[in-house]
Amino acid sequence: MPTLVIATHNAHKAAEIAAIIDLPGLELHPLDDFGISESACEDGTSFTANAEIKARFAYQHTGLPALADDSGICVDALAGAPGIYSARYANLDAQGKDDACDASDLANNAKLLRALEGVAPAGRGAHFHAAICFVDAQGRSHFSEADMTGAIATAPRGEDGFGYDPLFLVDAYDRRLSSAELSRSQKNQLSHRGQALRAIRPLLEDALRLGEL
Ligand code: IMP
Repeated sequence: MPTLVIATHNAHKAAEIAAIIDLPGLELHPLDDFGISESACEDGTSFTANAEIKARFAYQHTGLPALADDSGICVDALAGAPGIYSARYANLDAQGKDDACDASDLANNAKLLRALEGVAPAGRGAHFHAAICFVDAQGRSHFSEADMTGAIATAPRGEDGFGYDPLFLVDAYDRRLSSAELSRSQKNQLSHRGQALRAIRPLLEDALRLGEL
């Protein structure tokens, strides 16, 4: 059966990706299914560079076509930070950008709230960004990117999702709901990752049809 490796150890991301790609006849497996517990060193300087680093890592370790997402939250009042450092945001000061390891969602959210203390709603605009890289069976890279716009709440809301979802008020719902208050399908419909994945899906469909996966 044609197989695509999902280059992540994040179960939430893997589930979102699987729900959107969902091509009959294509098996999707996260890295953990291959007994690979290491992660790629994400030392790129852009979302696309890091997505490619992760996809190539999975391709090289499994010999199979691979798909990776690199994503994060970019806050207007913080000049786009934490951006590509979203996963390690709360550890940046103590450990430096390149050495910092990922911080907990709780710590990242708390740091973001502190950074925006006293900022009025109109100044709390932000967007999630996702870059997707698909490395095909011949080792060629293909990319797509997308945003979801919104604003940072003053306190967490909602139980679903992961990462910064409880703090992210979604523009498409007039900033009345956080992305942790959306159902999985509502989020997939709107999200940065959902849009970027749907943009690259036809390429996967063609590769599958042509027997190139
Ligand atoms: P990555 O796994 O290295 O791409 O890091 C992405 C980080 O950005 C995650 O750890 C989350 O903190 C954040 N992030 C990316 N996408 C989302 C999302 O859809 N919801 C909430 N947080 C997200």
